[in-house]
Amino acid sequence: MSKPGPKPFYHEGIRFECQGSGKCCTSRGSYGFVYLTSKDVKRFADHFGLSAAQFKKQYCGSKDGKVFLIDPPEANGDCIFLENGNRCGAYEARPEQCRTWPFWPENMKAKTWRREIASYCPGVGKGRLHSREEIEAILEAQEKD
Ligand code: SF4
Repeated sequence: MSKPGPKPFYHEGIRFECQGSGKCCTSRGSYGFVYLTSKDVKRFADHFGLSAAQFKKQYCGSKDGKVFLIDPPEANGDCIFLENGNRCGAYEARPEQCRTWPFWPENMKAKTWRREIASYCPGVGKGRLHSREEIEAILEAQEKD
């Protein structure tokens, strides 16, 4: 069921299919941060054959109770797992933040979407149509994380 109230700009759905550009994995202000839930840490740790504590020690920082992937100087602000500028080196274990791109709560305002997301991410407008209901379910699941 859709939320009550005025129709959002995406009420007819949005086409999106990842084009493998790696753009959402490169640094651009707040998008440079890859935050991890405890499930994400566990998935990554299993992927690398580490304990959650070992994975966090090696790959994570934390601030205000939020855990994120570290950003070593040699990564130039890009995700530590980005390879060759466009390939995720840990794709099967990528975190929720990466799985739910571009449907993030902070992206889903019409102006932000138009100016910062649709003009930036080549996957927008391509591939399968994601319905309003589907998009809202993705947004709600993130609010619960
Ligand atoms: S974990 Fe993978 S998909 Fe997510 S930002 Fe890093 S390189 Fe990109």
